Amino acid sequence: MSIEETRIYVTKPSLPPIEEYLEEIRPIWESKILTNMGPLHEIFASRLEDYLDVPNIALFTNGHAALEMAIEALGLRNTGGEVITTPFTFISTTHAIVRSGLTPVFCDIKKDDCTIDPTKIETLITDKTVAIMPVHVYGNVCDVEAIDEIAKKYNLKIIYDAAHAFGVKYKGKGIGNYGDAAVFSFHATKVFNTIEGGAVAFKDDRYKDVLFNLKNHGIKSETEIEAVGSNAKMDEFRAAMGICNLRHVQDYITKRKVIYEFYLDNLKEVNGIEILNASSCCGKDISSLNYGYMPIRILPEKRGVSRDDIYEALIRKNIYARKYFYPLTNLVDCYLKEYGNADVPLAKKISKEVLSLPIYPDIQESIVCEICRTIKDL
Ligand SMILES: *Cc1c(COP(=O)(O)O)cnc(C)c1O
Repeated sequence: MSIEETRIYVTKPSLPPIEEYLEEIRPIWESKILTNMGPLHEIFASRLEDYLDVPNIALFTNGHAALEMAIEALGLRNTGGEVITTPFTFISTTHAIVRSGLTPVFCDIKKDDCTIDPTKIETLITDKTVAIMPVHVYGNVCDVEAIDEIAKKYNLKIIYDAAHAFGVKYKGKGIGNYGDAAVFSFHATKVFNTIEGGAVAFKDDRYKDVLFNLKNHGIKSETEIEAVGSNAKMDEFRAAMGICNLRHVQDYITKRKVIYEFYLDNLKEVNGIEILNASSCCGKDISSLNYGYMPIRILPEKRGVSRDDIYEALIRKNIYARKYFYPLTNLVDCYLKEYGNADVPLAKKISKEVLSLPIYPDIQESIVCEICRTIKDL
């Protein structure tokens, strides 16, 4: 086996049995319907509404397009407004705000679960603020009630970036029920994938046509174009992958949970190592997690080694953990000049101490053992 084949990455995409996928796409050779909201798209959307326990789902070609179009559907695009958000996320969250002609205002995070700190939101509100865009980072549920209260008080929209939170529930309800819209990603690296793909979950039926227009060129009929649309439709092949993976996703999550608990047992007592969602903080129950990530925090003053030391030590064993989320999005090249001085001290500190360890349904226990040993021995 070559070195390449023995490398362990932070995740490995989940695929259904190939025969199952072939069976699902076979009718396409008869129908010749490849895209444009065909039968598989419709079946997938409806099953997804059931699984995610949300009233409406609009499917998209990817999560990023879904984020931008959710912003536009809520009437925020190019209003020149400010959006309060977190820098502790994948760059897509911030890009979606900026590409929509809005200004990101970065708010600090909480140390227990790394979601936006609602107690720091109000001081950032100005007469230009139009929305809050929090992230259920690592699948950890944001303080949805506190955020909702602030949004009501100041008449702000809430768009949750729920890219990490597929299947997560809070107080018995699907996570997509919180906020004006919640955006999921079905990218290959996520807990649930459609190769590439994404969705907007929303309650208000008015957004149905708006989102449909945005992803389909604004076409109403052959001769009627009623909106300035774009193109971000999910095609039939990806919908078929979604239908198949949806049958297995509970199994994927159950297997991830076993790995998660194995890590937890091995690392929770280790001096200077914290697990970022192990506590049932703020009354939230970790049994509702989807175990998409295995984020640990390394406290160098207690552990005697840094995050980067552990990252390098793992690479020497061909194990590629990831520094999710470092750097903060306000500190990347294209935003540093404008937003580099945002007041986010905790996010700044934590981003230098986090490491996401490999976790996926069929990772071997021996590899997880090796990872834990490497961390403990250093
Ligand atoms: C993956 C991800 C996205 C973007 O989703 P894509 O489907 O890759 O476009 C957005 N936000 C967060 C937090 C993500 O992790």
